[in-house]
Amino acid sequence: MTDPVLAVDGLSKTFGALRATDGVSLDLRPGEIHAIIGPNGAGKSTLIAQITGALAPDEGRVTFLGRDVTALPVRERAGMGLARTFQVSALAMEDTVLQNALLGVVGATGGAWSFLRPALRHGAARDRAEAALVRVGLQDQARSRTADLSHGQRRLLEVAIALTLSPRAFVMDEPMAGLGGDGSKRMTGFLDILRAEAPILLVEHDMDAVFALADRISVLVGGRVIATGTVAEIRASAAVRAAYLGDPA
Ligand code: ADP
Ligand code: MG
Repeated sequence: MTDPVLAVDGLSKTFGALRATDGVSLDLRPGEIHAIIGPNGAGKSTLIAQITGALAPDEGRVTFLGRDVTALPVRERAGMGLARTFQVSALAMEDTVLQNALLGVVGATGGAWSFLRPALRHGAARDRAEAALVRVGLQDQARSRTADLSHGQRRLLEVAIALTLSPRAFVMDEPMAGLGGDGSKRMTGFLDILRAEAPILLVEHDMDAVFALADRISVLVGGRVIATGTVAEIRASAAVRAAYLGDPA
């Protein structure tokens, strides 16, 4: 079997008496979408924060591209191509769409703010930002104020920013949240295209999207992975239905 792009081993994080993640192990393989589902409070966002580096685990290890990154800060993991997107929007609303896309490039290349002005006029950074906007269909909005975009267009801009990072893996926390039915369908189609760029670890509540997209699903309950399997395996699991999907056992 090919080596996983991203792996977590025995990841635990305690808040006071609460074990928010409790010995979580899972991996992300080339080309796949691995969905993580679980009820509110299961520890999904806490897990994502430890994978991206926003939160230091109490125990366990995160391996990315064969390297132990457990002690690396967010920025260095992002620089290696670990692209975190979505749940909390970090867009600068008063800046143009292109300026926001450039921030991804500048962040990824370690530049400071002073790098931004020349980059806006010419250069590889600008080319990468514009190419990313074309890929998500926002090229005509490049000079629009980000605040003037629709909610769905802002989501696409966040995807474009992720693309500028030359991602080797995407880590997404509820990208469908707040999107209507049409927006969810559009995002589902988009993630299906993005997986060709890099594999996706996808935390998502929208089960239609999860069942449509996921190659594997891991079910997190009370900070523990209670099952990992294909869509068919997870759908058929009585333990999963009892613990998560709400069926009486
Ligand atoms: P999910 O994303 O699956 O809904 P979270 O990872 O956000 O779950 O939260 C898991 C548990 O950890 C919840 O009980 C939550 O209240 C708690 N928690 C999350 N972050 C903190 C924090 N910074 N301090 C204390 N408790 C936290
Ligand atoms: Mg969450």
